[in-house]
Amino acid sequence: MKDVIVIGGGVIGMCSAYYLAREGHRVTVLDTSDMSKGCSFGNAGLIVPSHIIPLAQPGMIAQGVRWMFNPQSPFYVKPRFDRELFSWGWQFYRNSTRKHVERAMPALKDLSLLSKELYRDLARQNNSFFYDEKGLLMLYRTEKTGEEERHVAEEAKKLGLEVDFLSAEEVGKLETGMDTDVLGGIHYKSDAHLYPNKFMKFIRDEILKEGVILKGNTAVKDFLIKENTIRTVITDKGDFNADAFVLASGAWSAHMAKRLGLRLPLLPGKGYSFTLKNAEKRPLHPAILCEGKVSVTPMGEDLRFGGTMEITHTRDGRINTNRLRGIIDTIRSFYPGFEIKLPDKKDIWYGFRPCTSSGLPVISGTEKIPNLVIATGHAMMGVSLAPATGKLVSEMISGKKTSVRTEMFGINT
Ligand SMILES: Cc1cc2nc3c(=O)[nH]c(=O)nc-3n(C[C@H](O)[C@H](O)[C@H](O)COP(=O)(O)OP(=O)(O)OC[C@H]3O[C@@H](n4cnc5c(N)ncnc54)[C@H](O)[C@@H]3O)c2cc1C
Repeated sequence: MKDVIVIGGGVIGMCSAYYLAREGHRVTVLDTSDMSKGCSFGNAGLIVPSHIIPLAQPGMIAQGVRWMFNPQSPFYVKPRFDRELFSWGWQFYRNSTRKHVERAMPALKDLSLLSKELYRDLARQNNSFFYDEKGLLMLYRTEKTGEEERHVAEEAKKLGLEVDFLSAEEVGKLETGMDTDVLGGIHYKSDAHLYPNKFMKFIRDEILKEGVILKGNTAVKDFLIKENTIRTVITDKGDFNADAFVLASGAWSAHMAKRLGLRLPLLPGKGYSFTLKNAEKRPLHPAILCEGKVSVTPMGEDLRFGGTMEITHTRDGRINTNRLRGIIDTIRSFYPGFEIKLPDKKDIWYGFRPCTSSGLPVISGTEKIPNLVIATGHAMMGVSLAPATGKLVSEMISGKKTSVRTEMFGINT
């Protein structure tokens, strides 16, 4: 049994704490914030075994450059002349190959399916977080996007995922909650969704029952390292000692890694969401409106829309109204007749996805500091992959064989 400190109380840190505590370790979670509204709360809540292709993929750079010139587009890189952005961009470019995607797909699929199994177990205990296996609809309005989506779906099918290819009429028959104006859709039956804010409450309650100590408003500032081993974390609320440490500080992890003398190419990808409470009209199925990359998730009585990926820095709290207009226009074109207006700024949530230059999460020990496990970089899939990540973290710290292979999730992949 070890004393373990988890740095970061987002969905990855909390799930790590849960599985570590279940293995019998004594766990403390430290977080700068009060752990109530970060990236793990306002996201779209999609559990996506369908997302087998990492962000770093052929064609992504060219598409990204085209989007850069459209102020309403779902993707943007905030230009700045610094080495961190340049080096991340260069590595992202180098990783955007067919070979990388082919290696990543089975690894991502296994990790996702493990996560889904674990979500099922958690929901069986108490489904207070509206876990639901209705699948995911990828809806498209143009032939070009349809062709791309069908191609991805064929790859997913080859890997054994259950996929239906739907015409516009078939989409209408399946999705009776909303009128849709689409050319067609792909139904990934493998996928699920949940209400992230409620999941975060659930997992918090569970880890408190397991005896985990949660310390909010406690910022990790530095580390004391002796003989390649972290002995102590130094925070603004005092020092904490432990036998093992988990770095799960999301979009802030590159900065933390630097303090440990490690290079972690990771940048924040800002995204927005807004939630209609007690929505009178809502779809039965979660969907991605492909051309605008907008997510639509029914969550209990509520309905959440999300979108945009702005590669930026973690001090960037600006709400970009142009991009929100882009989200609203997309919703109007896919769901004609659905009345929606641009929400007030105060009702718009934003969060920073931790995006690595490989497009893959890092779930890994390090040779340089053997009592450290890094668990971050899940970009658009942090919720989806959180229970599996937590389980792997606990297996690594307990010295056990991991449930799935982790070679693709190394720090230098
Ligand atoms: C619009 C949007 C939609 C999304 N939709 C989905 C989706 O449908 N499905 C999905 O799977 N994912 C989705 N995501 C991504 C998902 O939200 C993230 O991948 C996930 O929340 C990352 O979790 P995390 O625990 O790594 O990071 P975070 O939730 O950011 O947690 C990191 C924590 O570390 C703390 N921290 C930082 N620095 C320090 C420090 N020095 N000391 C102590 N604590 C520190 C922070 O305060 C924070 O609480 C979406 C994201 C966005 C923005």
